[in-house]
Amino acid sequence: MKVMKFGGTSLGKPQRMHEVSKLVTADTEPKIVVLSAVSGTTNALVTISDLLAKGDRTTAKEKIDALEQQYHLFINELVSTENRKAIAQNILQEHFEFLNIILRISYSEALSKDILAQGELLSTKLFSTYLNEKGVKHILLPALEFMTIDMNDEPQIGNIRVKLTQLLKQNINQQLFITQGFICRNAKGEVDNLRRGGSDYSASLIAAAINASACEIWTDINGMHNNDPRIVDKTIPIEQLSFDEAAELAYFGAKILHPASIWPAQQFNIPVKLLNTMDPSAPGTLIKSEAASKGVKAVAAKDGITAIKIRSSRMLLAYGFLRQVFEVFEKYRTPIDMITTSEVAVSVTIDNDAYLKDITRELEVFGTVEIDREQAIVSIVGNEIAADANTLSKVFESLKGINVRMVSYGGSAHNISVLVTGAQKNQVLKQLNSGLFGLF
Ligand code: ASP
Ligand code: MG
Repeated sequence: MKVMKFGGTSLGKPQRMHEVSKLVTADTEPKIVVLSAVSGTTNALVTISDLLAKGDRTTAKEKIDALEQQYHLFINELVSTENRKAIAQNILQEHFEFLNIILRISYSEALSKDILAQGELLSTKLFSTYLNEKGVKHILLPALEFMTIDMNDEPQIGNIRVKLTQLLKQNINQQLFITQGFICRNAKGEVDNLRRGGSDYSASLIAAAINASACEIWTDINGMHNNDPRIVDKTIPIEQLSFDEAAELAYFGAKILHPASIWPAQQFNIPVKLLNTMDPSAPGTLIKSEAASKGVKAVAAKDGITAIKIRSSRMLLAYGFLRQVFEVFEKYRTPIDMITTSEVAVSVTIDNDAYLKDITRELEVFGTVEIDREQAIVSIVGNEIAADANTLSKVFESLKGINVRMVSYGGSAHNISVLVTGAQKNQVLKQLNSGLFGLF
């Protein structure tokens, strides 16, 4: 059995949904199909939820009506018989009525999760309606019945496996299952989600839970590329990556795959394929335990990074200093990405600055603290790159004229990262594209 996940743009127009139905019926292998919300919907729902949080019901109502209008146009082209149109209309009515009821209830965090869940509920139900019109046999599996997270918002893979296996057993002769990405239930039993872009994570958790033959992530680009196609002119798709390489790339900025989605696949050794709905026969990128070759495969950048430097004479010859520094970040549940040290100072970077004020206040106990905002981490990722004597010199040669704030090398054999100002990021990606890949 395999898992196929389709993102919002692959479902963004009725015609694209028709294409998806062809892809999921193209072969006879049993499959679980995981769908995101139709593109733009989750953003619209976030806006509605934010408006309600501010108490602006009038604008929220306008946004709900506008979204509903879009969906009416959508279903008109999605299905063609009067009977199916009526069914699709009922689906819209149910979910938009729900949003209109929420409008009148006082806002809470839990309610906002309910609002955000409507996108995936709508896309799967509408897709199912279309499949029914086409006479494609399938089962709609409610993600809220098996996808669960614990008190720390971590997915409960054991529980997911038990529940999902039960659901599949109840439908023993079925070949095609459709379910929602992104949404889940939390430890309190409430509707919750796996954070923005979390449908990839759902797909990989499902693939791990059922020991799938493959986890296919269908988007609108031919797999992962060696550089960011939005920034540099020429990029090439990467044929194969190891899980470690893919994790580094996804974490450090390659937008195509949610970074958390790597570990379930890696732990249960499920090959992940990144494929293109617009060009289904293109090879895309295969991610598995082995790397195809040595050397640099790609560069990626992550924006909005804050660098924190703690300078302290107490650090000199002291042990336990770094532990104390790290404890501050632990206390505020803020992950650190890069670290560099000298004898009297340590620099770290974070991407979540929600607790920056508190962290700074507590760090000031140790010495002077300097903050640089709007930095970017540029990562050079590949297999055994740190083992190759020439890679580092090539990287530095490519970075001519750039003010590098931090360098991280040797932490893993697959990554060299540099910190530069956000303003220099594009230039750095361009210079690395020519310096490392010979692409101009
Ligand atoms: N619909 C959700 C989002 O836009 C989840 C996803 O698309 O992966 O974040
Ligand atoms: Mg996505």
